[in-house]
Amino acid sequence: MPTPCCLNCGRPVDPAAVFCAACGQRTDTSRLNLRDVARDLTQTFVGVERGPLAFAWALLVRPGEVARDYVEGKRRRHYGPFATLVVLVGLTTLLVNLSGYQVLSQDGLASTPTGLLQRHFNLLLLLQVPLLACAAALLFRGDRLRLAEHMVLAAYAMSVRAVILALVVPIAYLRAAQAPGPGEVLAFWLAWYVYFGWAASQFYRGARWRSWLLGMAAAALAHAATMAVLFAASIGYEALAVR
Ligand SMILES: [Zn+2]
Repeated sequence: MPTPCCLNCGRPVDPAAVFCAACGQRTDTSRLNLRDVARDLTQTFVGVERGPLAFAWALLVRPGEVARDYVEGKRRRHYGPFATLVVLVGLTTLLVNLSGYQVLSQDGLASTPTGLLQRHFNLLLLLQVPLLACAAALLFRGDRLRLAEHMVLAAYAMSVRAVILALVVPIAYLRAAQAPGPGEVLAFWLAWYVYFGWAASQFYRGARWRSWLLGMAAAALAHAATMAVLFAASIGYEALAVR
């Protein structure tokens, strides 16, 4: 009997092995059948041990622990932070633009840049991840984490925020509101500060209340930095538009 070879990379495989030692493909791969398709769609879609609903629940109720697992190398347990973020931000942006809900109308920018940002809402959400990670890196210097590791927490937390926004927008739309009121915008940001502080209290070491407060401060700092970037961009945009 000839030694079996991996169908992906062609190297000989141990007949007892479940995965090829060289490339990691399953050794029981044969011609594609419907069971493979089902498996591809469910479990091995992104190589996550638990299903998307279990992951969504874990992310919602303990975002900081999910981020810590990921940073500590338990990578197959959860969906990756950046893929999760890009997918959820994409869905939220689609919903916001389909509904025509003026999410940014209370942020005090001129109408043209606001319209532009509304259309590129995904970029606005994604921009906040490195800003949030930098704010966290500044306030949690003592944890000696890398910027990329702070970004894992920022990306998971921003993913949850995108989902919340995606749920708020259709509700507002059904209530026939065209734009959030100032009170609603304030409540949204305050809830976000508290949520990110709570996520930080799970993610960072040290006393939980201290991490919570520092996390809230990081969220506020990132919010201020985002607004500063937007105002600078808005002034630049107006200056160019006038000419
Ligand atoms: Zn192989």
